Amino acid sequence: MYYIDPHIHMVSRVTDDYERMARMGCVAMSEPAFWAGFDRGSVDGFRDYFRQLTEVEPKRAAAVGIQHFTWLCINAKEAENVELSREVIAMIPEFLDSPNVLGIGEIGLNKNTKNEAQIFWEHMELALKTEELILIHTPHLQDKYKGTRMIVDMLLDDPRIKPERTLIDHVEEHTVKLAKEHGFWCAMTLYPITKCTPSRAADIIEMYGDDRIMVNSAGDWGPSEPLAVPDFVQEMRRRGHSEKKISKIVYENPLEFFSQCKRFEFKAPE
Ligand SMILES: [Zn+2]
Repeated sequence: MYYIDPHIHMVSRVTDDYERMARMGCVAMSEPAFWAGFDRGSVDGFRDYFRQLTEVEPKRAAAVGIQHFTWLCINAKEAENVELSREVIAMIPEFLDSPNVLGIGEIGLNKNTKNEAQIFWEHMELALKTEELILIHTPHLQDKYKGTRMIVDMLLDDPRIKPERTLIDHVEEHTVKLAKEHGFWCAMTLYPITKCTPSRAADIIEMYGDDRIMVNSAGDWGPSEPLAVPDFVQEMRRRGHSEKKISKIVYENPLEFFSQCKRFEFKAPE
């Protein structure tokens, strides 16, 4: 089955991972900008990272027949440096003409602080001004419900925000309804340790349906599984779900969401 991994950090993965994903049917992926594992020191550090995301990774992916898309931002973990965050937000438009950019992300909250909320909002202002799609990271574990609630409340407070152009990522059992009931897109992250397992994700689909939802591996350098989406496909098959239904979640849904980006050009496999 062809599939799309809508959230994976390929800068932290080796070429073998690209090859294994291609063999399992991956035809496209999207890579949100994220934290480097250390706080970057300057806006030029981000400029080089954005070049990696818009020039280098698309070539690595194309070498195995995968189309690579990306999202740009400064991560919430670095939002306490408000001055640097503002310099990065001001620099992002330099890259908004790159053909593989889908929008602004993954923005959001980490520890739910005041500075994080401020920088989150300044990213939103940029996305609204430039009519970009928005990809939102929700916090982990104990901060998740509170952070997701804060984010949804902020979004609902502003009538300019279009829920159908906004994706709320890393939803779980206790936050999926919050995202879906207001018309946002959402995504479940399949992690071997924290976040959802493939079977929990399948349970959530069975409870909340397959509209406006997708699954991703969020693979990075930490414990993660770049083949998590195929694992989810297998779990859904084991439960007797149709190929059509599974394909909707792992292929058609991400395409439908990404297609709202004015630059998005996808060559479907023949
Ligand atoms: Zn991520």
